[in-house]
Amino acid sequence: MLSSHAELAKALQSVLTPDAVLSGDAAERAYDCDAYTVDRNNPSAVVLPRSTEDVAKVVRWCNKNDVPFTARGAGTGLSGGVLPAMGGVVLSTKRMTKILEIDYDNRCLLAQAGIPNKRLSDAVKDRGLYFAPDPSSQSVSTIGGNIGENAGGPHTLKYGVTVQHILGLTMVDPLGEILHLGGKLPGAPGYDFVGIVVGSEGTMGIVTEAWVKLCPIPKAVATALISYRNVADACRTVAEIIAQGTIPAALEMMDHGILRAVRAAFGLEYPEGTLAMLLIECDGEPDRVAHEMESVQKVCKKNGALQIRLAEDEAERAKLWTARKKGIGAMGRIAPSIVTHDGVIPRSKLPEMLEFVYDVSWRYQIGVANLFHAGDGNLHPCFYFNDRDPEQVKSVVAAGEEIIRRCVELGGSVSGEHGIGIEKVDLMPLMFTPEDMEFQATAKRIFNDGSLCNPCKVLPSQKGCVEHRRRWRGTAW
Ligand SMILES: Cc1cc2nc3c(=O)[nH]c(=O)nc-3n(C[C@H](O)[C@H](O)[C@H](O)COP(=O)(O)OP(=O)(O)OC[C@H]3O[C@@H](n4cnc5c(N)ncnc54)[C@H](O)[C@@H]3O)c2cc1C
Repeated sequence: MLSSHAELAKALQSVLTPDAVLSGDAAERAYDCDAYTVDRNNPSAVVLPRSTEDVAKVVRWCNKNDVPFTARGAGTGLSGGVLPAMGGVVLSTKRMTKILEIDYDNRCLLAQAGIPNKRLSDAVKDRGLYFAPDPSSQSVSTIGGNIGENAGGPHTLKYGVTVQHILGLTMVDPLGEILHLGGKLPGAPGYDFVGIVVGSEGTMGIVTEAWVKLCPIPKAVATALISYRNVADACRTVAEIIAQGTIPAALEMMDHGILRAVRAAFGLEYPEGTLAMLLIECDGEPDRVAHEMESVQKVCKKNGALQIRLAEDEAERAKLWTARKKGIGAMGRIAPSIVTHDGVIPRSKLPEMLEFVYDVSWRYQIGVANLFHAGDGNLHPCFYFNDRDPEQVKSVVAAGEEIIRRCVELGGSVSGEHGIGIEKVDLMPLMFTPEDMEFQATAKRIFNDGSLCNPCKVLPSQKGCVEHRRRWRGTAW
């Protein structure tokens, strides 16, 4: 039994190399949470493997020494998925960033799990291809993390989420065996284990390599930024566009809280009286795009749009996207901490749900701004607060739970794309019966029958997690 963190780090150095292990206070603090910062726990050490074999060696060592381990990509997750709940080893894929093979004929690519999402598209854009799932964190978030969370993004309304773009995986299972699931060609016979692993939040093993699909870059793109006097008009527009049968490539909403933050951070200006904006993009064959954009504009006008700005060229398109892409970053100017919640509701309920969010924010006296994938009904209330104040932390957690409960009451879901992690583990029973959850636990046990691989995530009532929970939550410093 290894009694100290230093001893454990030393032992891991001999499993890999001395420079592949980080330890000590600074490393422990840097790896104690993801972008959901209200729950934290220190790891004992962090390892930086370079290959599938390195990962397998570390996992086998962890099993032999009864040490928990947790996979980590860029740590941009928003539900505490990488929090090392029982301490132990954080396996960071930071050094696993290679593209191993590109098959242009079959439009697919094999990459290591630690590669940032956007680098996949950058590598093939000269050949007119790209990787479609585009979480707003795509410049840093990794393909391994996207697989862990089954990430979505602005364009997944039309193109589908991560699971629809993964063909095959190489994975180290929780006992350290190397598995190959699916493959380069779609539709492999047998059970669809890729579908189970994608979205399993690192609880079924550690993905080390992935075959991803590449899509042709659309021939034409039209982008519009539409201003409204209030969120209700913008919400109605969203529901009507989809109801009339148009599926834009992206249909994103920003409320006045986000617009205020973006104005302060980047000096962006909007028409007088703007309290909400939609960013709508259509893409595909030129004629069809022109037709779709025309009908979209009709719906916008009918629902009281103040102004419709259409991008004339690439530079203007990038400018129109600024508020959407930099919105969360801009929130950093307003308060030291933010928690971005994630729930889903039927699109028709958006106006009612946003009213509820503003009411919750007022009752708990915590500021809120909303920036979300409205086309999917995927809501992201973003609370801003000071995480050094325990009362504010408590309020943010309670307010988030009220919102998620309401999403379920309105016929929605506890999570759209940020996963369950630690944050929502206690909310799973809102959606699933004990029998449903036992069935999920049985599926998990096929891969992970122990308690070492990313413990205490996704499913409630795992042994040993309850008493630790009280310790995770608290103020930052
Ligand atoms: C500003 C901002 C914008 C965001 N926008 C979006 C968005 O538009 N859409 C969206 O879906 N999400 C979004 N997110 C959330 C987050 O970026 C995604 O969940 C992303 O997929 C996480 O990737 P990561 O590399 O940071 O993973 P991490 O946070 O490091 O890990 C996430 C989960 O995956 C597991 N994991 C990581 N690597 C592996 C691996 N190799 N094998 C197995 N499991 C692994 C971890 O254990 C953890 O459970 C956003 C976050 C931020 C901060």
